[in-house]
Amino acid sequence: MTWKQKGIKHDAKHGQLRLSKGWNLKDGRSDFILAEYETRPDVEVENIQQVRAVWNGDEWELHLVCKKEIPVGDAPGDNTAGIDLGISNYLAIDYEDGPSELYPGNTLKEDKHYFTREEYQTEGENGPSKRALKARRKLSRRKDHFLHTLSKHIVERCVEKGVGNIAVGDLSDIREDENGDSRNWGQSGNKKLHGWEFDRFVRLLEYKAEEHGILVDRVDEGNTSKTCSCCGQIRDGNRVERGLYVCSSCETTMNADVNGAVNIRRKITQSPPTGDMSNGWLAQPGVLLFDRESGRFTPRERGDCKP
Ligand SMILES: [Zn+2]
Repeated sequence: MTWKQKGIKHDAKHGQLRLSKGWNLKDGRSDFILAEYETRPDVEVENIQQVRAVWNGDEWELHLVCKKEIPVGDAPGDNTAGIDLGISNYLAIDYEDGPSELYPGNTLKEDKHYFTREEYQTEGENGPSKRALKARRKLSRRKDHFLHTLSKHIVERCVEKGVGNIAVGDLSDIREDENGDSRNWGQSGNKKLHGWEFDRFVRLLEYKAEEHGILVDRVDEGNTSKTCSCCGQIRDGNRVERGLYVCSSCETTMNADVNGAVNIRRKITQSPPTGDMSNGWLAQPGVLLFDRESGRFTPRERGDCKP
């Protein structure tokens, strides 16, 4: 459901929106939907182009589409990076220049355990209880915060690494099944971050990257999990065991998610395999954990970094 500019009245002073119900639904001139909003201090609602009502799986959200001019800087460099949504809920990023990194998305899953089932799933006669609604809102805000922090952090890393282009696997084919779980993703394992969350992440990444002049390209994921990023062999016989990719041709062993991210990065770069695969980057990438207290990503100590 979408409202165009004609159907929106914005009262910025009081943080209110009046949304028209449409001529066939409204009882009279004063019949409209009144919505109040709050924003973070650094967000300003202005130049609203559209309001969309979006079902997030638990409740309806209103998404405000605003027009904003962003000064676009020059790209920090010509390097490329590749991002793959890996198995076991990890997001892997490979930089052309320097070690790859893994970001666990299980913070999102852990958050769900943070609430008891009763709190989260209670459905009373008149819909979910107040407590359940509160829990769901809190969960949704935490998820939001996580995705914002992750995309911002990755863009900062890309600036440091002189990246001008980020390739991201296009997962638009993933849809949740009737249980709300992502479908089995065949060879590459279950992609446990739901499609829409990843899609949301990519959109956040796109607009944060744009401010720094970095382009985000969605590329076809085809074969990226089956291809050996070391020798280029595509074989069904290549194994993934405990998150490690083992090539039956050149016998390289690497972190499977990082292998995928390298292959995705190569989709937008001409550079051939570099022969730098023996330096441990691919087998033991850096792992960054989300620290709830500081709200930041911090490197996990080396030595135990097998995901
Ligand atoms: Zn190989």
